[in-house]
Amino acid sequence: MLQEEVSILLGQKNMSKTPCRVEVLRVLLESGSALSEPDIRSRLNGGFDRTTVYRTLRSFLDQDVIHSISLEGGTVMYAITHQKEKHAELFHSHFFCDDCSKVYCLTKPEFEPPVLPEGFKANGYDLLINGTCNNCS
Ligand SMILES: [Zn+2]
Ligand SMILES: [Zn+2]
Repeated sequence: MLQEEVSILLGQKNMSKTPCRVEVLRVLLESGSALSEPDIRSRLNGGFDRTTVYRTLRSFLDQDVIHSISLEGGTVMYAITHQKEKHAELFHSHFFCDDCSKVYCLTKPEFEPPVLPEGFKANGYDLLINGTCNNCS
């Protein structure tokens, strides 16, 4: 159940269930692909103002409930970080559909992190594959 998933996501981080948090998670879970902030706001029920939505996204990012994906041209998309993918979180890639412009998280197969020069430490990376998604092909 969606409601249950929302509770689990917030509960894991000891975050209280504010109406805006619940709504933002519902929208992201229902979408099944990443969404930009304007996308999220256009789907929210409850008339939350921009600042509230922004703060909600901020706190989700801080708590690793969601992660952001930066696209060419500066668009930022947001997607749920599923706990079971926690390990894959640092090194997972994304798929951009050239036809419908949807962005999906790819967690399988995991990519091998690139070998870095000595003394370098990666905190994550951003790999974007583009092509045609299963809805468009
Ligand atoms: Zn598509
Ligand atoms: Zn992702």
